[in-house]
Amino acid sequence: MPLQPSDDLAAAIRAGDRRALARAVTLVESTRADHRAQAEQLVEMLLPQTGAATRLGISGPPGAGKSTFIERFGLDGLARGRRIAVLAVDPASKRGGGAILGDKTRMTELSRAPGAFIRPSPGGDGMGGVARRTRETILLVEAAGFDTVVVETIGAGQSETTVAEMVDMFMLILPPAAGDELQGLKRGIIELADLVLINKADGELLDHATRSAADYANALRLIRPRIAGWEVPVRAVSALTGTGIDAVWEDVARFRAFLEKNGAWSRRRAEQARAALLTEIGDGLLAQFRAAPQVAARFADIEREVMAGGCTPAEGARGLLQLFIR
Ligand code: GDP
Repeated sequence: MPLQPSDDLAAAIRAGDRRALARAVTLVESTRADHRAQAEQLVEMLLPQTGAATRLGISGPPGAGKSTFIERFGLDGLARGRRIAVLAVDPASKRGGGAILGDKTRMTELSRAPGAFIRPSPGGDGMGGVARRTRETILLVEAAGFDTVVVETIGAGQSETTVAEMVDMFMLILPPAAGDELQGLKRGIIELADLVLINKADGELLDHATRSAADYANALRLIRPRIAGWEVPVRAVSALTGTGIDAVWEDVARFRAFLEKNGAWSRRRAEQARAALLTEIGDGLLAQFRAAPQVAARFADIEREVMAGGCTPAEGARGLLQLFIR
């Protein structure tokens, strides 16, 4: 990858140069040590220009209509004068970075709009790597002037929690469901939601979606609210026709205003930064631990012993950690 000195790249990003932004995201996605160093330097330089955007997480089962919704929501946002960046988190993906055919055909209209920036998901190298890249990419798009960042989870897995921990507001998009399906809904995930959208409230599915939304709203009342004083709205919407999308924009504004008023907005950001710091320390330590020759020499043996039940995991870990610290 041809690289520019970070000053030039940072200036181009601040000026809203999309090609520079795309190059910077590629840099952030790279696992090469020299790229990592440059990416960190770049993000550091841009830090004063970050933080102003509203960061939204969007999750839901495949087929619920996430990409259709983001396209519609994004286009509405552009009409409201917003500048939208869409990032995807897909830890399961084994695809290479950069352009992916499947992703390119999604959100076609939004991806052509000058006020929008859509970044397909790069290949996964574990949730830790994905989370860091996404955190840094959020900062890059903010420095480039995007005021709304949508982080979408693709595929199932642990990504919902990870995304919920790096955004300001977490939305769940669900298809209309019957009462018994509702029972099976993963509680842990619905507990993360600040807003629940029942999509496909149109045509034959309209009644079903409306009833579903009422059922979910009832179910949610039984759950302790994640944020005191914020009753999670449950809306029947149609990404296809656009019904209810305006209300979602209003919910986003209302949510932000509510959290800003009681100080929770910046408190949550600070907590997220603290959690990310600890994660980075953990990841960094683990990488050094694995790379240490005195650990490497004994690791396979101890691992085998632990697996065979010859020693406890705690005992094995203690032995290896002693070798590492020495
Ligand atoms: P994703 O997997 O969650 O990103 O879902 P997609 O956005 O790809 O949508 C899955 C399918 O549902 C597609 O065939 C869409 O056309 C359809 N779909 C999405 N939103 C709506 C909607 O509001 N109403 C109806 N009737 N279909 C929708």
